[in-house]
Amino acid sequence: MKRSDATQRMAKSTRKTAPNATNDGRTKKPLRAVGRAGSRNRGSDGATELLVAWFQAAARDLPWRRARDGYRALVSELMLQQTQVSRVVEKFEPFLARFPTPAALAAATEDEVLAAWQGLGYYRRARLLHAAAKAVVERHAGEVPTDPEALRALPGVGRYTAGAVSSIVFGAREPIVDGNVTRVFQRVEAREGSASDTAVQAWAWERAEAFVAAARAPGVANEALMELGATVCTPATPRCGACPLRAQCAAFAAGRVDEIPAPKKRVARKDLVLVTACVRRTDGAVLLEQRPRGGLWGGLWQPPAVESADGADLAPRAVGELLGLPATAALAAVGEVPFMTTHRAVRFVVFVAKVRGSGAAFAARGRVWVAADALGEFALSNAAKRVLASARV
Ligand code: SF4
Repeated sequence: MKRSDATQRMAKSTRKTAPNATNDGRTKKPLRAVGRAGSRNRGSDGATELLVAWFQAAARDLPWRRARDGYRALVSELMLQQTQVSRVVEKFEPFLARFPTPAALAAATEDEVLAAWQGLGYYRRARLLHAAAKAVVERHAGEVPTDPEALRALPGVGRYTAGAVSSIVFGAREPIVDGNVTRVFQRVEAREGSASDTAVQAWAWERAEAFVAAARAPGVANEALMELGATVCTPATPRCGACPLRAQCAAFAAGRVDEIPAPKKRVARKDLVLVTACVRRTDGAVLLEQRPRGGLWGGLWQPPAVESADGADLAPRAVGELLGLPATAALAAVGEVPFMTTHRAVRFVVFVAKVRGSGAAFAARGRVWVAADALGEFALSNAAKRVLASARV
């Protein structure tokens, strides 16, 4: 395979030989700064060092960078998957204050973990982190393992997370590839295709291996690459003028930064209509139910809701029957609340009802009355919070 690209030039800048074997078992040749056609040796001037120097000057002050250990790294990496950094910044230290060690997290109930995860979305990750903490306690005496293979054996830890934790915290020479890294590689080498293409992914991992194999400090180099993708080489408006890799960047040289990577193919969202009732007692308590464990918002709490294609056409009495509420429930329509998830366009058709007395008949089907000041102890999806807010509950 031809290895004539700028990533190799980045690699060559800090070490002159590549690792000894490729994924398919072939012996790797030493990395050579052969460059693109017509640019032999041009730019082989320490691009990785430039990248690392840039990172050391420009790195964001993020909570998980202030103190490093395997547990903090594991928590931050799981939180950061598909979630904005600003949101993780808010949630990271409070979560660690609540669960300061793998043992503390392992000992918590799932509801406690989900409640602490509120605001981060994608609750499946919270469950996986919880399971990972239990595995760390059971298999590794409560210490997050340093070995990448042992890390990958933990629930929720894939090749990227294992690479990030083991290289950044423990200095292992492990590659990492996420969306940011793939985008930087693609642009630096003007590699066509969408970042989510399987072939592009395989190519990016190969490039990441070569990159980290040649780096003087693997963890710092990996983190620098991710930071560049997150803050400079961004999807829509990259700041090429501030980029330490500008001289090596083929997409920049060709004026093709806007075209690479190719946009993702959009997947149409499925429509989902949920008829929901926000039922409140006169003392302010709210009726909640827990969603089934699997699927959308699995295990989270919500006002009683049921899927119905008839949605807004339903009369209040029919809604009460559909939701299995007592016949005494005087439901009134409030309106609709739209909510988008990655795969679904959800439309909540919202009804409200007030209940006098204890409302014991409503606490059937696993439903519970929750005092208004105790709502924070229940893991509610953002959608459920928005529904409750629409009903002023
Ligand atoms: S020069 Fe621009 S496109 Fe190229 S790596 Fe830097 S920020 Fe990305």
